[in-house]
Amino acid sequence: MRALVVAAPGRLTLETRPRPQSAPEGWVLVDIARVGICGTDYHILEGNQPFFEYPRVIGHELSGRIAEDAHGFRRGDLVTVNPYVSCGKCRACLRGKPNCCTNIAVLGVHRDGGLAERLAVPAGNLYPADDLAPDQAAMVEFLAIGAHAVRRSRLTAEDRVLVVGLGPIGLGTALFAKARGAEVHLLDANAERLDALKGDFGFTHTHTLADGPQAVMAASGGAGFDVVFDATGSARAIEAGFAYVGHGGTYVLVSVVKDEIRFLDPEFHKREMTLMGSRNATREDFETVTAAMAGGTIDTAKLKTHAAHFPDVVAALSGWSADRRDIVKAIVTVAE
Ligand SMILES: [Zn+2]
Ligand SMILES: [Zn+2]
Repeated sequence: MRALVVAAPGRLTLETRPRPQSAPEGWVLVDIARVGICGTDYHILEGNQPFFEYPRVIGHELSGRIAEDAHGFRRGDLVTVNPYVSCGKCRACLRGKPNCCTNIAVLGVHRDGGLAERLAVPAGNLYPADDLAPDQAAMVEFLAIGAHAVRRSRLTAEDRVLVVGLGPIGLGTALFAKARGAEVHLLDANAERLDALKGDFGFTHTHTLADGPQAVMAASGGAGFDVVFDATGSARAIEAGFAYVGHGGTYVLVSVVKDEIRFLDPEFHKREMTLMGSRNATREDFETVTAAMAGGTIDTAKLKTHAAHFPDVVAALSGWSADRRDIVKAIVTVAE
């Protein structure tokens, strides 16, 4: 079978490898249909992913068809893959939080992923996607990260929400906050992106960095936001975001940075702020996204902005990685 191997930063090859014929105990063989590409993949290509081991078959946003009857799945069933392989034994796993398992291994990051024709996946990491198209099923994972952040925040229809950083993860977060009926404000440096999100997804409250913090605070009614989500990937932006949280409010850090984050304790304390990390997603979040897609709440056609077929994947990935300003989600078709 063909597999896209990142041999070293900047070195991509479409290699021929033996097609897996059997899966380990408890795992199921999946014939990959679609693979979504995201920031993590670009970082791996560029060598900006710390502790990353090359060579690696990348690809972690996956849909596919079951290759053989196993564990209640039937050959040909369309499934979404949860790429977070947890140990099931650590304290986090035992307490129902496999998304932050201490021994987590992410398919396509810590072990070989799905830019290949066939992949073995633990049965418990496969979710039925009969109500979705293959493209949609490959978009469940990145949206589940936003759905997870929104679920953790416990936000309600009464809340006024600010999402900072409108890349794909911020957009997913904003969509699920909106689906809960909250008043959702968006803040991003890129005015064109905000305009596109207004038109495509019906967001009405958008603010650019150029508007300045006073204008953003004024849009909250002056009291700050009940829930602020950061999806910027910038330590400085995370620090600036503390000021937007209202008294009694919650600050959810969705993006990860490799830096220290500082804040002034009196400002934090007087708000009795809840500061929360949000990592990956769980089965419940995948199911929330699948239901939203099947019910038409999320217009996935507008999320898929770029596409390529597997034989062209090397050129496509290089091009997307070099200029990703206008990409929301790029999807590689491995098989129909
Ligand atoms: Zn991703
Ligand atoms: Zn674990």
